[in-house]
Amino acid sequence: MGAGHFALAAGLKRWAPRLPLWVLILSAYLLDVIFIVLFAAGIESLAQIDPANPGYGGAIIHAYYTHSLVGALLIAAAAGLLASRWWGRGGGWIVAGVVFSHWLLDLVVHRPDMPILPGNAGNLPLLGLGLWQIPLASAAVELALVLGGAYLYYRSAARLPTPAGMTPVAQRQCVMTASVTVAVLLLLILISDVMGL
Ligand SMILES: [Zn+2]
Repeated sequence: MGAGHFALAAGLKRWAPRLPLWVLILSAYLLDVIFIVLFAAGIESLAQIDPANPGYGGAIIHAYYTHSLVGALLIAAAAGLLASRWWGRGGGWIVAGVVFSHWLLDLVVHRPDMPILPGNAGNLPLLGLGLWQIPLASAAVELALVLGGAYLYYRSAARLPTPAGMTPVAQRQCVMTASVTVAVLLLLILISDVMGL
């Protein structure tokens, strides 16, 4: 879901004009960023289902803290509180929402490997709708997110006031170029993901 999380962040720029794009992107990936830290520390891990054919969505992810429902909610709340110091209450809520949206998107694609409580306490059922098992369908969902995200990003950038010394036509071209660049980058991420690069 590499491209999908990114697309969501870019698309949300429209509703959060004060939040820098990097904050939205970091928020969309925060669970995975913390996962990488815990992975390095040996607390969370990743296993290929078929080590001979590592492919798109072909991993079982043992992220029992960052990707547990309660863990993700706690991380989202902490990130939202932190963000509200700089970008106000509204900014804090958006950051918290974007952080948690990662868990919701992962819920759709992951195989059942996401616990409810941190550390899979109580051995409750693991969650995950497993769309990755149908690579074509999950790639289609990501593609829709990429196109939708790039379009919303374009809309939000096009609303910004024209900078001094720039004609509206030149601004439009700039915005168009930036949006197409974002879309192409996301498509490349998606393609490399699908091909298991
Ligand atoms: Zn994730």
